[in-house]
Amino acid sequence: MTRQQLYFDHNATAPLNSAARAAMISALDEGGNGSSIHARGRCAHARIEAARLQVARLAGAVPADVSFTSGGTEANNLIIHSAAQHGGALIVSSIEHPSVLEPARASGCEIRLIPCDTNGVIRPEALQAVLEQGDSPPALVSVMLANNETGVIQPVAELTRIAHNAGALMHSDAVQAAGRIDVNMAALGVDYLSLSAHKIGGPQGSGAVITACGAALSPMLVGGGQERKARAGTENLPGIAGFGAAAEQALMGLPEMNRIKHLRDELETRIQGLDVLIQRPGAKAERLPNTALIARPGFSGETMVMALDLDGAAVSAGAACSSGKSGASHVLPAMGLDEATAGSAFRISIGPEHSFEDIERFVAILTPIVQRMKDNRDGRLAA
Ligand code: PLP
Repeated sequence: MTRQQLYFDHNATAPLNSAARAAMISALDEGGNGSSIHARGRCAHARIEAARLQVARLAGAVPADVSFTSGGTEANNLIIHSAAQHGGALIVSSIEHPSVLEPARASGCEIRLIPCDTNGVIRPEALQAVLEQGDSPPALVSVMLANNETGVIQPVAELTRIAHNAGALMHSDAVQAAGRIDVNMAALGVDYLSLSAHKIGGPQGSGAVITACGAALSPMLVGGGQERKARAGTENLPGIAGFGAAAEQALMGLPEMNRIKHLRDELETRIQGLDVLIQRPGAKAERLPNTALIARPGFSGETMVMALDLDGAAVSAGAACSSGKSGASHVLPAMGLDEATAGSAFRISIGPEHSFEDIERFVAILTPIVQRMKDNRDGRLAA
């Protein structure tokens, strides 16, 4: 019998949580349309509202501020689309997920990028400088709460104060942060927050926008009054029910993150012991407790992912958010990493199901691969 693969790729998709699975099966079995007024419809509606409360709690928000979407990508698109309706410049960090960067570029608005420092942090002075440039007044500042590749946590509360002083609204993509660090809409002060269910043990294709009271959403999908007219279309009942249950579990699991941080730190120490040239981009900054990004000039990140996969461990090279995507990341060059170092990076992201034995097993799989790559001058592996 083959041993189960070590799944160290939570930042791509976390395994489905059992409570989320149960909530989805129950919602699928019972069905119903949340807009129908009969008993089955009222029951579906009640499930959606219960999930809205669960998701709101995860973000320290109130249910009325939660609008469900088809995931983090749609949530980010909806926020950028809404801000672009009012004209003005979109001020976006250089390390945002493509689901922020691309709609901003396509919006027709003036777009200005905020650079990060060599640790992958968006510094308040960098935002201030960008706000003072350009032709149009700033409409929206968008800075993610934690980066998907490096795990670096951004000083969003401070950045929000600066954005508000300049008259801009503030958005933070909390897709990777939720369930891994405390996320509190009020403490962050942001006007918009985006979330995704599948990063916290919920289903893929389910997410949310959270708005602070007063922040408007201009729908991209029209033709129905669902989600308080923010997004037309019959709600994804099982997806929303699963998201709600996963959000509740993620909130309860936050204290576990200390243990996960210890595992991650131990893993990094062991990996650094394998070769003196191993680097950890972003490791000097405050980071998500579950994420380790490893680079080693001369290695190939993609070859590493394939070799680990063959030997029973799943990790990612760069960001693995779009289908089949591997290769060039915009985040590591933004931090000043050269091409060879950026191309060697691979991301390990662990979760609550992991134990110290899993870390040992991973290091045992990785060690001979590192040795073989060192023996091959081009960082690839002999066939
Ligand atoms: N934002 C970040 C930071 C992400 O890592 C991802 C990854 O997939 C997304 C947004 C997109 O979320 P979804 O996969 O739910 O569309």
